[in-house]
Amino acid sequence: MNIKDTFKSCLRPAYRQLLALMNRGSNVECNICGRNFSGLRPAYGRHADGSLFVIDNHVGTCWLCNSYPRTRLLYYWLVNDYKILQADKIRILHVAPEEQISNELRKLMNIEYTCIDKHCEGYKYPSYVKNGDVRYLEFENCTFDMVICNHVLEHIKDDIVAMSEIKRVLKKNGVAILMIPIDTDLDKSIEEKIDENLTPAEREERFGQYDHVRIYGKDYFDRLKETGFSVERVSYSDELTAKYGFMSGEEVIICKK
Ligand SMILES: [Zn+2]
Repeated sequence: MNIKDTFKSCLRPAYRQLLALMNRGSNVECNICGRNFSGLRPAYGRHADGSLFVIDNHVGTCWLCNSYPRTRLLYYWLVNDYKILQADKIRILHVAPEEQISNELRKLMNIEYTCIDKHCEGYKYPSYVKNGDVRYLEFENCTFDMVICNHVLEHIKDDIVAMSEIKRVLKKNGVAILMIPIDTDLDKSIEEKIDENLTPAEREERFGQYDHVRIYGKDYFDRLKETGFSVERVSYSDELTAKYGFMSGEEVIICKK
């Protein structure tokens, strides 16, 4: 085990506990790990050249479990609206899973839980995350009761192909949670063409993040409907948004066949 791995497995959890203790308070609560804080940790992004920056207009990550606002929002919906803790036996496909949610769902005996991510060189994936491409899923039609694909489609050029695949593997009464960052001032998404091959720096300049291939506008919902989904959009009160540190205006986007 090298020094980095040693830090990750041994020292980082202790470091996070220390940060959580130093930032304890009653202003905001992480609904995943259950801890309360005076405020959240600034969220960091990475420029195309690898340097770090603090993401503006972002509520922040949990000092203890490192959950993002979108992760807490999704988990809130799963627990309180979908009532996943009390659900009958269900099969879930989680694409590019957030570890905070995976850690909770993997504890549940009522869930047959499959995780995939497109494995990239240089990254380490937990053993339960199999290599897989959401555009070419290796599952039979109508396999899953739920597909979770949270902030993934903005990384994929042929997003309609991915949407169609998700619909194919979803059971008739299943739900797909397909959240994305969206600019609701835009009628039409701005995106990299299929035959373009932008550099990370060009993508950052055009789409705000070096590995994004578009900025979704309101036509995102048309794309989902054209794929054959009906779409439900759920948001929560200002009070809950502040309490759990969700991002203001972010919605849970629920798609049904
Ligand atoms: Zn937390």
